[in-house]
Amino acid sequence: MTDSGQNRTGANEPLVRFENVQKTYDGEILVVKDLNLDIEQGEFLTLLGPSGSGKTTTLMMLAGFESTTHGDIILDGRSLRTVPPHKRDIGMVFQNYALFPHMTVYENLAFPLQCHNVPKSGQDRKIAAALAMVELTGFERRRPGQLSGGQQQRVALARALVFEPRIVLMDEPLGALDKKLREQMQIEMKHIHENVGLTFVYVTHDQSEALTMSNRIAVFDDGVIQQLDGPEELYERPKNAFVAQFIGENNRVNGTVRDISGDRCLVELPNGQTVKALPVNVGAAGEATTLSLRPEAIVLEPADGDGCDDTYPAIVREQIYMGDHTRVRVEACGQDDFVIKMPRGSGARSFELGQDIAIGWRSGDCRALDAA
Ligand code: ADP
Ligand code: MG
Repeated sequence: MTDSGQNRTGANEPLVRFENVQKTYDGEILVVKDLNLDIEQGEFLTLLGPSGSGKTTTLMMLAGFESTTHGDIILDGRSLRTVPPHKRDIGMVFQNYALFPHMTVYENLAFPLQCHNVPKSGQDRKIAAALAMVELTGFERRRPGQLSGGQQQRVALARALVFEPRIVLMDEPLGALDKKLREQMQIEMKHIHENVGLTFVYVTHDQSEALTMSNRIAVFDDGVIQQLDGPEELYERPKNAFVAQFIGENNRVNGTVRDISGDRCLVELPNGQTVKALPVNVGAAGEATTLSLRPEAIVLEPADGDGCDDTYPAIVREQIYMGDHTRVRVEACGQDDFVIKMPRGSGARSFELGQDIAIGWRSGDCRALDAA
């Protein structure tokens, strides 16, 4: 697509840079606090976070529909402060993708071209190219009502791509679709991104959606990016208790740091037990911490080869068969909601409710984070 793969400012410069960006709507509360974020040319970046965390506001400031209260946004080395939305070279897909129902697919795609003053002579080629990207060649004469939800979504994406923008912004575009279609569209969206090579910035509150599609994910909470990393890094190595909690499932156990030496710390639990953990985000000895353990990292009845540093007594409280795994809830470490995922075929066995067992884990899988 045109020269959008080239970055005019040179290979090492990001395509977009948020510099100390703040936003308040009411003059009091900062809904975006101090945002510094680089968006790389060609990446699929997702802004992920709970409702109200500032994702849409961030996207709208980039699109130019909201101003920044403080700081600046740089696109291709140029401040966007005085650049109106239609001159930013940015395509958008909204949640209620708002196709014009009385217009054909062709007319829906021609609309943004007319807004961008593209001469009529170039329209056909651009529309054909955009429809090919979303694999809807031949659908030009249909109206939105004659398309499935997924096809309408693809038309909305084609409409954002048709004027060959540098960046495509999407705000929860799959929110209206049912689960199965949404998952299918996530894969399609990822493929479309790979094929067109454009920069996608995507907003969602759905962590599995973010993990499926993104090159990098910025986890937002309360107007602040808590962590910016690739999907695997975020899941495997969350930097704080919020991220550990928001991405995937985890067991949280509060305790007090007793000792830190090298790459392990010793944490005392309220019931007097001590646990070895990886010190990720902890203060000095004596300070509170939250231990985070993924349900699949816990071993039931550990054997010698499992690499568990210690074992802890547990009482089986619940077992739920989930097909590909069994969820076992135990009482352990002073908590009654310790969840363990036993993958199918991993020597999975069943226990009696109330049975006394042992659980364990590798101390490297037990992350000591900020006290939540
Ligand atoms: P998200 O997209 O993560 O759900 P938003 O960026 O929409 O979050 O909102 C962040 C905060 O800003 C919320 O507290 C929201 O109520 C507030 N907010 C968003 N838009 C407006 C607006 N136009 N006027 C006033 N407050 C707003
Ligand atoms: Mg939003």
